[in-house]
Amino acid sequence: MVAEAAQSGRRESRTARPRYNRAMAHRVTLIPGDGIGPELAEATRRVLDASGVDFDWEVVDAGEAVMAEYGTPLPEHVLESVKRNRIALKGPITTPVGGGFRSVNVTLRQVLGLYANLRPARSMPGLDTRYQDVDLVIVRENTEDLYSGIEHMVGRDAAESIKIITREASERIARFAFDYAVANGRHKVTAVHKANIMKLSDGLFLESCRTVAAEYDGRVEFEDRIVDNMCMQLVQKPELYDVLVLPNLYGDIVSDLAAGLVGGLGVAPGANIGTEAAVFEPVHGSAPKYAGLDKANPTALILSGALMLRHLGYPVEAERVERAVRAVIAEGSATTYDLGGPAGTSEFADAIIDRLAAESQIPAASSISA
Ligand code: NAD
Repeated sequence: MVAEAAQSGRRESRTARPRYNRAMAHRVTLIPGDGIGPELAEATRRVLDASGVDFDWEVVDAGEAVMAEYGTPLPEHVLESVKRNRIALKGPITTPVGGGFRSVNVTLRQVLGLYANLRPARSMPGLDTRYQDVDLVIVRENTEDLYSGIEHMVGRDAAESIKIITREASERIARFAFDYAVANGRHKVTAVHKANIMKLSDGLFLESCRTVAAEYDGRVEFEDRIVDNMCMQLVQKPELYDVLVLPNLYGDIVSDLAAGLVGGLGVAPGANIGTEAAVFEPVHGSAPKYAGLDKANPTALILSGALMLRHLGYPVEAERVERAVRAVIAEGSATTYDLGGPAGTSEFADAIIDRLAAESQIPAASSISA
């Protein structure tokens, strides 16, 4: 479990895990986002409200829609809301290519110290994929590497981007990956790098992973792979891998690859976890061409919501939501276009809610891994 991951290691918990009184509603910041975000957020909110957990949603807008009013896509009150509630569920936000404002997603991660990006990629029956039994967890460092945003022109015809890798951030993400593995009964962590070429930066990342791996010796296996080889291996034999830990850029790319192995962006959930807050969001973007058409697949945001339920300490409810999603996808008649089905976003959500209602009397098995 996400939250347990932070607690299982030998050190004190460093990730945000609010201690809630179960008698009270959980106040969660809901950022619907741009493009298809609002309709997916509404579908997800309805599913989570049917999960049996009581939520008090604080809805705040960020992204393109608020630019004119606030002069920024990430107004201060949105940031304050996430800081106050320490938990947010977020739809995708459009980032203009080239000029325009800086990515809201990158800013949120950096400002809130959301250092770990967790992206499970698990096969689901009913999806038309090349593999049936993929079960990977991608742990991506979220705060540095080439995403530090340090770039400059060198004269008119050359540009430099600075890649930052620190021992502190590398050990922190490695420890998160190992803690996650221990808490979820995972057997192996693979560090992914290009230390043969970037001997200093990626070399430091690998060295940090090795240092942390030694603390888990005998509990979790450790190995490393060069990123290009890793991509080939994931396409040829994904079943050999379990938890992967990567610096920011490779993590971004490899997690999309992993999403492709299990059915694509429409079904890939994610979580950004830090010491002060956690933000749950799908891997996919705002898909503007489908905005407002009630067409997009809500699965990724709903499964991000299930990760959030686990983080809040509701593994049984999280599992119920995941089971309902899997059942509707396996059955196939109420899924969206990208999964080959005839339904729209809201009809898909209705089918999941019906399933939850039908199963509400069946006790859920013990927690499954995220
Ligand atoms: P995208 O993920 O928005 O869409 C790519 C394609 O994938 C879509 O055209 C659609 O065919 C499909 N797709 C994506 N999500 C889907 C869903 N839920 N259901 C069905 N089909 C879906 O990627 P993009 O076009 O590269 O990016 C669009 C915008 O989103 C950009 O501005 C980008 O910066 C932004 N973005 C935001 C986030 C985020 O907020 N975390 C992540 C990625 C991209």
